[in-house]
Amino acid sequence: MALSGIEIFKKLPKKNCGECGVPTCLAFAMKLATGQAELVACPYVSDDVRAAIDEASAPPIRTLTIGAGDRAVKLGGETVMFRHEKRLENPPGLALVLSDTMDDSVVNEKLSKFKYLEFERVGLILRPQMLALKEESGDAGKFAAFVKRVIDQMDAAIILMSDRPEVISEALKVSKDKKPLIYAATNDTAEAMGSLAKESACPLAVKGSGLDEVMAITDKLLGMGLKDLVIDSQPVNVKKALEDQVVIRRSALVKKVKQLGFSTITFPGQLTDNKMKETLIASLLIAKYAGVIVLSEMEGHNVFPLLLASLNIYTDPQRPMAVEEKVYEIGGPREDSPVLITSNFSLTYFIVSGEVESSRIPAWLLIKDTEGLSVLTAWAAGKFAADTVAVFIKKCGIADRVKHRKLVIPGYLAGMSGELEEELPDWQILVGPREAAHLSAYLKQWSA
Ligand code: SF4
Repeated sequence: MALSGIEIFKKLPKKNCGECGVPTCLAFAMKLATGQAELVACPYVSDDVRAAIDEASAPPIRTLTIGAGDRAVKLGGETVMFRHEKRLENPPGLALVLSDTMDDSVVNEKLSKFKYLEFERVGLILRPQMLALKEESGDAGKFAAFVKRVIDQMDAAIILMSDRPEVISEALKVSKDKKPLIYAATNDTAEAMGSLAKESACPLAVKGSGLDEVMAITDKLLGMGLKDLVIDSQPVNVKKALEDQVVIRRSALVKKVKQLGFSTITFPGQLTDNKMKETLIASLLIAKYAGVIVLSEMEGHNVFPLLLASLNIYTDPQRPMAVEEKVYEIGGPREDSPVLITSNFSLTYFIVSGEVESSRIPAWLLIKDTEGLSVLTAWAAGKFAADTVAVFIKKCGIADRVKHRKLVIPGYLAGMSGELEEELPDWQILVGPREAAHLSAYLKQWSA
């Protein structure tokens, strides 16, 4: 259970030396409690106290990482049932399943498609990061060679899928440095799979028919000292899949059931033969509360909506997405190019910059820090008022980069143009269009 700031403070050394970056132990404790600091920043905490605080303040859904390097996928760390309570921490990993019985040409084609499944959205790169490699040949050597070939070809977080410990053992010989997720320990193989996970320091998935069986297996594995577990309750239909996800999350968060305090792995393709339905089920599982979603196919039309749903659900509702405050050059602007200003809400920036770019009129786009608020909201909150805009115009250096003194403000803020002219007497304030879609026509008039 998470500790309060005061409970953490009681365990700190109380030197108030400031070496952790904040002036007092109490302030450091408060930052630790809200996840804004790491305990490692205090050099005076003893190992015993560190272990006690780490254990007591660990999130009810354990954080774990599958894979290594750039494509590592972090799961868990969840502390709430609903996004609006605080935020959801780590979006689910989307995995494409590949079998060792597939023809090489099919595998190559799927891998080359997977490689190019990359989408830019509000300045972020969205892409699937996982491959689930499934043993269906019955041949441990063949599976290990298949795993090696895929790893050599593609940088991705790997899931090794086989119910047979001897097959996983062979595959780990060529892949354990990549920290794959081992899928899966069952009631019969828990001990053998647990030993492999322990020796290789890789995370382990648990597969049981229903939550009672899952809990019995996780209990056994916890007893062996394993902590990085992922669970699969093998639901028989969509209703049961959703029910299990909610029960797992609620049991871990509310009832503190430690046997269920883990991320989950799901297979929507096992619940339908229809590819579009598989995508729909995956979208439900993104909302409620899958850790890994293994898909039988990955194409742009099914992956992009899933990545987008995930982005929308897993952004922090307390922190609007924002871009950096600065002068952006669009299309190589010159001294006589138009100067426009808007807020640093990501969506505003990308829509406005996109419209300016498509107008083919080079321009200077001034982005003022409004803490991620959109133009009207920022104006209402006093973060896009004439006085603060004037301060930004003076300090951003745009006056040294253009010969003219004309500033285009968003159409919705026409009312502040007089006040802004008073604050910036050297500048002529022009009111731009209300809608970004009309910017192109507006800028063309400028150059005419
Ligand atoms: S470094 Fe440790 S002892 Fe020093 S102020 Fe921070 S928490 Fe307290």
